[in-house]
Amino acid sequence: MGCFFYVFCGYHSPVSFYALQMNIFEKIIRREIPAAIVYEDDDTLAFIDIGPIIKGHTLVIPKTCYETVIETPDEVLAKLMSISKRIAAAQIKTLGADGVNIIQNNGRAAGQEVPHIHIHVIPRFSDDGHHWNWDAKSYSSSEEMAQLAEKIGEGFSE
Ligand code: 5GP
Repeated sequence: MGCFFYVFCGYHSPVSFYALQMNIFEKIIRREIPAAIVYEDDDTLAFIDIGPIIKGHTLVIPKTCYETVIETPDEVLAKLMSISKRIAAAQIKTLGADGVNIIQNNGRAAGQEVPHIHIHVIPRFSDDGHHWNWDAKSYSSSEEMAQLAEKIGEGFSE
């Protein structure tokens, strides 16, 4: 996930040197740069994404800086998803969204630009014209699928 070594950030948890260097979201939390705040409580912040897929696109972050889903404690993930659900409901209620995409990228290879875990909550409209261009591949056989299922299952931890 791009972690070279661990140092301590200004909050309470270890983050990589990369995260410490690059974390624009911490500046938003500290009000060092402006953001359009949607929701805030003691440990969570939701604000409008500066580069929206669709206008109203909101980011939900913990105030503690964990880099990816792997490092983030389960209780923090549960809180982030709970707030994301409420943001999604609000987008439907107040913006008239017909649907909502909830997306979360981990690691540069997966498109994560900001190394501070965040959930994208994107309002969708039937006529918004956006397409994810989901380029679905296929497996050569059911055995190949089964082998992958077994391999991933072997690495599963509680
Ligand atoms: P990622 O690609 O890491 O999943 O998403 C990072 C998101 O953060 C992008 O959608 C990008 O538009 C947003 N972003 C980056 N810098 C800023 C900023 O300074 N302010 C706000 N509001 N959003 C930002």
